[in-house]
Amino acid sequence: MPIDATLPYDDTNIFARILRGEIPSTRVYEDQWAVAFHDIAPQAATHILVIPRGAYVSWDDFSANAPAEEIAGFVRAVGHVAREQGLVADGYRLLANTGGHGGQEVPHLHVHLFGGAPLGPMLA
Ligand code: C5P
Repeated sequence: MPIDATLPYDDTNIFARILRGEIPSTRVYEDQWAVAFHDIAPQAATHILVIPRGAYVSWDDFSANAPAEEIAGFVRAVGHVAREQGLVADGYRLLANTGGHGGQEVPHLHVHLFGGAPLGPMLA
């Protein structure tokens, strides 16, 4: 069920637990600002989630409240993962579902990185 993105951060959410290493994930990249891992239910040939280490519910929370250095670090990490995965030449798609209409299920900001094959006009 989609979340209410206006609620405060809940540090028991599944991605917070992945960040703390309490739940396994297949990490492909991590740095000071971000952790990236394979989506457990991939919807594309390559489907990776990139999440900030910071406690942000959604893209809205992050864009409004994160320090500029953290935003820059996270955005750079997303781009780095795409390059490292070899997705740039053929292209890729980024998606940040936000709140109810966005269909966001996990209340920790995550950017979906899709690629590895043509994606069609939209992934809805
Ligand atoms: O953007 P949204 O919140 O809908 O996406 C959550 C994503 O987290 C889903 O694609 C789901 O497969 C993924 N997920 C995961 N590992 C978990 C729980 C959810 O990769 N343990």
